[in-house]
Amino acid sequence: MKFSDFRSDTVTKPTEKMRKAMYEAEVGDDVLGDDPTVKKLEELAAEKIGKDSALFVPSGSMGNAICVKLWTKEGDEIILEERCHIYNIELGNLSILSRVLPRPISSKRGEMSPAEIEKAIRKKGLTSNGTSLICLENTHNFWSGAIISVENFKEIRKIADKHNLKVHLDGARIFNASIAKKIPVTEWTSLVDSVMFCLSKGLSAPIGSIIAGSREFIEEAWRIRKLLGGGMRQVGVIASAGIVALKEMIDRLEEDHILAKKLAKGLAEIKGIEINPEDVETNIVIFKIRKNGLNANNFVEMLREKGILALSISEDELRFCTHKDVNEKDAERALKACKEILYA
Ligand SMILES: *Cc1c(COP(=O)(O)O)cnc(C)c1O
Repeated sequence: MKFSDFRSDTVTKPTEKMRKAMYEAEVGDDVLGDDPTVKKLEELAAEKIGKDSALFVPSGSMGNAICVKLWTKEGDEIILEERCHIYNIELGNLSILSRVLPRPISSKRGEMSPAEIEKAIRKKGLTSNGTSLICLENTHNFWSGAIISVENFKEIRKIADKHNLKVHLDGARIFNASIAKKIPVTEWTSLVDSVMFCLSKGLSAPIGSIIAGSREFIEEAWRIRKLLGGGMRQVGVIASAGIVALKEMIDRLEEDHILAKKLAKGLAEIKGIEINPEDVETNIVIFKIRKNGLNANNFVEMLREKGILALSISEDELRFCTHKDVNEKDAERALKACKEILYA
């Protein structure tokens, strides 16, 4: 059976241009600083994201881990949103690698209240090592791809400066926010000290993420990447696809957003599904199953039998993700499958 795969925007296959670029890539040993294609990608990435320097890393998780490690000392507290990726689905690496104490706070669809953040800040003293970092996520994966506003970033930046804290942005899908809002990505990234974004999601590169920040920061990041086993040799082979991703794939994210909106509206009309289509601003569609005897896990299984792949993210929540390798036909097929299951 041919599947319509809505599990994630990571399932995208490299484009023909990427394959060609990979074949033709000029390469060298990047651990020795010799790979010209990686250098080109890092320069382009730094320019696009509006930071002095950038570093190519194997995954978003490693990118986040490096940034947290650099901004904290063992035992420090860090403030983050309770449904964020770093805290929930990176295998506890905050505690294992950086050995920090996460202090999750609640939010309004991913947007943390600056006052709540300020209340959560601990001063270094007899009973606490103090807070050193605030982590933000934009777009917010588990809040259905919600866009966190520039205004919110500005307020959080003010608090961070007042208390001498660093701000890291898990911007795995920050370009989705920029395309959806039609404002430059730098509106957000200029307000944080470090940013990670993924080339391997809606941008369709096969492998890799970028971290970016000041020149000094990235020099240190290089060392931590090596420490974690992320120093790669003739990695221009994959960096070349990242260059194509940055040059050609950002603008087309809009198509994913249109398709996600369509899915959300279609789902909203199905009895037994709970979703507010207004909440779907980018390419992630999270909805709830509200029918006796059905939960997210068995719903996913039943969808699979009908050729639709989705992810369950909690007991009653499912996630559809749109990307360049699904189209309107796939969306119609998904909606039909949902109806068949719920109306059986
Ligand atoms: C995917 C993702 C990551 C991690 O990226 P990997 O490359 O899968 O390690 C981090 N944060 C968010 C919000 C993500 O969606």
